[in-house]
Amino acid sequence: MRHLLESRLVNDPFGDPALYVDFRDERRALLFDLGDVTALPPRKLIRLSHVFVTHTHMDHFAGFDHLLRVVLGRKTGIALFGGPDFIAQLEHKLRAYTWNVVHRYEVELVIDAREVGVDGRGQRARFSSRTGFARESCAPFDLVDDVLHEETLFRVRGCFVDHELPCLAYALEEKAQFKVARDRLAALGISTGPWLRELKQAVLTGAPDTTPIQVRWRDRGGEHEATRQVRELREVVLDLVPGRRIGYVTDLRFTEANLDALSRLLDGVDQLFIESVFLDQDSEHASRKNHLTARQAGEIARRLAARTVVPFHFSPRYEGREAALVAELHAARTESAAPPRGAV
Ligand SMILES: [Zn+2]
Ligand SMILES: [Zn+2]
Repeated sequence: MRHLLESRLVNDPFGDPALYVDFRDERRALLFDLGDVTALPPRKLIRLSHVFVTHTHMDHFAGFDHLLRVVLGRKTGIALFGGPDFIAQLEHKLRAYTWNVVHRYEVELVIDAREVGVDGRGQRARFSSRTGFARESCAPFDLVDDVLHEETLFRVRGCFVDHELPCLAYALEEKAQFKVARDRLAALGISTGPWLRELKQAVLTGAPDTTPIQVRWRDRGGEHEATRQVRELREVVLDLVPGRRIGYVTDLRFTEANLDALSRLLDGVDQLFIESVFLDQDSEHASRKNHLTARQAGEIARRLAARTVVPFHFSPRYEGREAALVAELHAARTESAAPPRGAV
């Protein structure tokens, strides 16, 4: 089964946290956290439509400048989400540069900044290159439940966890999706492309059989284009399958309150990316630093009944001992229900 979203950590587990989520069949992507993202080639940064920042410690936000540098003059818009004070912090970053010529750039870049408060109220501002990134306030918004962003094919939910400061944990949820029958597609002499999204939406919303779909695809023979009706294409999409859920959890203390918040957000999650910063033998140090040990991360994964787990954000003190962190996490994950150690 091909999934709509393909998720991958940008750096190795000792590097800055950042999760890149690519949309198949579409030239766009999402990013969770914005630390060092120089490992991503410009074409991948340009694909980003939305960036979700957990908190503004440097290792999660210092990549903003690099991102801006790459997209400026090439991209029309990007949305950035963050927690308390996020808009002001973004504004400070933008104010650190001189913008006397960007208003003349042919491509206007608009940064759409969204800030979520711990009370569930949202603030919004926009910064345009046309005005030298002067802050323009937009109407505030209220979160509906815990949904930060929603589109036809997916939604992003969030909750705050305690990292001695409010830090956002995220759930990225594919909505129910269609399977594509590749053999039937091949029999029609066409190939996958961004048009599949249009077709899926048409089928999902019950569009009439005669609705035209512009089918564009590329193969060895070059670019192709044809107009087909929904009726002709309907057979290439098969049954609805439930969407996959991805969790991105980093920078938090091991507390019951955090565990409860994560349970509400991520119970039964399919793929969990979770920080595993220290070994359990250093758990006191971990709690002083407001981070999880690998054992605690494994315990959280077990409680959430996560199907797969990817640990990251390893402390550099364990360089060369990556396997010990991974083993500790998986041991805790598969342990029979033992009382959580160190939860306060
Ligand atoms: Zn961090
Ligand atoms: Zn942090």
